[in-house]
Amino acid sequence: MNPAKADPARDLLTAGLSDSAIARQLHVDKHDVAKLRAEMGLANVPAQPLTVEQKWRQRVRELPGGHLEWTGERATGSGTPVMRHSGNAYTAARIAFRIKHGTDPQGYAAPGCGTRHCVAPDHIDDLPRRQRDRAALRLVLGAPQRPTHCRRGHDQAGHGQLLPDGTAYCARCSADRKQSATAS
Ligand SMILES: [Zn+2]
Ligand SMILES: [Zn+2]
Repeated sequence: MNPAKADPARDLLTAGLSDSAIARQLHVDKHDVAKLRAEMGLANVPAQPLTVEQKWRQRVRELPGGHLEWTGERATGSGTPVMRHSGNAYTAARIAFRIKHGTDPQGYAAPGCGTRHCVAPDHIDDLPRRQRDRAALRLVLGAPQRPTHCRRGHDQAGHGQLLPDGTAYCARCSADRKQSATAS
């Protein structure tokens, strides 16, 4: 270990931090910290597991414009930022939504800022937020009043949703179509 870091490492060991916490803080090798611990005759301290939010914060990098880039794991194929914690897997956007709002998103969480895979908590929308923004867009574009029922009679107060460009569609019909497509 860099001799300049041995003293601070000893102080942190005496203060009761774990090897990995000290290694992270001082940017030194965990095994060197363990050696130092053995020399000092101190007992091992179990690594303090990071909370979901702490782990998330270690995996983001600021981009211009307030966007956050994910530096952690990504789902194969889609490239969606994901994170595992205590045996569970989450999308990074879901955690970002929780950080900002203190509740789980309704539906899926995704950035509404136009930057692909951005995980900035301020930029993450859930289903109701997306729909609200799209309804506002429809209004701005002067789109006609959406129908109260779809062609198959589904009440659009419950099933009506909007595409990113404000186009209205029936979520019930589209779910039915998906189901019959997978069944056939
Ligand atoms: Zn963003
Ligand atoms: Zn319908």
